[in-house]
Amino acid sequence: MVEKIDNKFIVDNDYCQQCGTCIGLCTSSAISMCLRDDGISILSILNEKCINCGMCYDVCPANKKLEVENIYDHIKRMSYCDAYAKDDDIRNLSSSGGVAKTIIVEGLNNGIFDAVYVLKKSDIYPYVAGTYIDKSDGVKYDDIPNSIYHPLMMNLALKKVKKVDKLLIVGTPCQIKGAEEYLKGRCNKLTKVALFCKQQKTLDSTKFIAKLLNTSVDIKKPFSAKYRGDGWPGIIRINKKEIPLENGVAMSMQKRLWTVNGCKICGIPFGDKVDLSLMDPWGGYYKKSDNGITVVVIQSSQGEKILSDLNAHINIEKKSFKQIKRVFILDDIQRKIILIPYFLKEKIRKRILFAGKVNDIQDVFYRNLVEVMPRMPLKIYSILCRVPDIRDLILSVGYLKKKYNQK
Ligand SMILES: Cc1cc2nc3c(=O)[nH]c(=O)nc-3n(C[C@H](O)[C@H](O)[C@H](O)COP(=O)(O)OP(=O)(O)OC[C@H]3O[C@@H](n4cnc5c(N)ncnc54)[C@H](O)[C@@H]3O)c2cc1C
Repeated sequence: MVEKIDNKFIVDNDYCQQCGTCIGLCTSSAISMCLRDDGISILSILNEKCINCGMCYDVCPANKKLEVENIYDHIKRMSYCDAYAKDDDIRNLSSSGGVAKTIIVEGLNNGIFDAVYVLKKSDIYPYVAGTYIDKSDGVKYDDIPNSIYHPLMMNLALKKVKKVDKLLIVGTPCQIKGAEEYLKGRCNKLTKVALFCKQQKTLDSTKFIAKLLNTSVDIKKPFSAKYRGDGWPGIIRINKKEIPLENGVAMSMQKRLWTVNGCKICGIPFGDKVDLSLMDPWGGYYKKSDNGITVVVIQSSQGEKILSDLNAHINIEKKSFKQIKRVFILDDIQRKIILIPYFLKEKIRKRILFAGKVNDIQDVFYRNLVEVMPRMPLKIYSILCRVPDIRDLILSVGYLKKKYNQK
């Protein structure tokens, strides 16, 4: 997080969301980046080069105050649909239903956008890069990766974006928040498609999956990692060895291990004022299947129009809030919002402080257990996943609902 202290700008790496916007847009190359073994980039501002323009501070998504206090009310005002690519191969090989890729590729092919700023596959670590692509460059489905769960700094190449009429950005909420003001200045109409994101993971999460697969991952040596695809919820492939997604990420997702630090202070996984949010159909909403579905939260008329313009390529079925609400797991998001002041070390009520402390202890306990112990049978991990989350017991669902006066 870029902070301003005594008229000087500094990076507090404890809250960095790894979007890369500050480095990508710095006009005097005053921000240095040092890659750690867990994939996290440690940033610092070099005083001798900094011209104190404040651009890094203005664009940093982590230092913006969250305007949403009550996720239950916020999300009820949207509309929703199940969606998937009409092309069966794209649907099957993508993260969920292949909606993001179809919007990018067909949106460019059909002139809905003049250009896009999206993540594209690359040959060097982190094996993807934020890329500006315009109509004349063209893009193939295979150029675009499935959901990537290790850190990457998507916004490093923002300065490559040229002036166009209609521009699309697809990314996580923090990447979009970081880039949007700059991109609005590069186009007449900016469409924002957010990948619903509760947590980005450090490379330690991938190292854990590699351990389960009897292989290894090291930032200094080439490796391959494909986290999604081949039906729902899909397969993870590391160095050509594979494991069902639910076995590979259950421990890290459910116990929230190896999360990028700055994600702890992001309370709006749907994205703030975006056009569409794309989600996985979790929460028991959709059964295991050869093909996937992307749950889409439509947040604006522009988002609605893009889906209808692409109706030759994307199948859509409208849903009501009641039909779809189990996918959102809203209590989980509301708890996250409540804990943000704890992570920001603000003054808070005792109950929240207690839940925050338990969160930290739980995190260290599970991390040590799975990192120090030799490879355990999968069954043990699945039992560990079923141990109730003490933090959730303290900030019980009843408490969350009472606090926000929900029915
Ligand atoms: C880090 C991360 C965490 C997520 N967490 C959740 C979650 O907790 N719950 C949930 O319901 N859904 C989550 N999602 C969203 C989900 O995984 C799918 O991305 C979404 O459902 C869209 O699926 P799709 O098949 O339409 O996407 P595809 O058609 O497969 O396209 C994937 C798109 O994501 C882009 N992309 C992949 N990884 C990244 C990244 N790290 N940063 C920026 N762009 C990226 C690709 O460039 C491509 O545009 C997460 C996604 C990411 C990237």
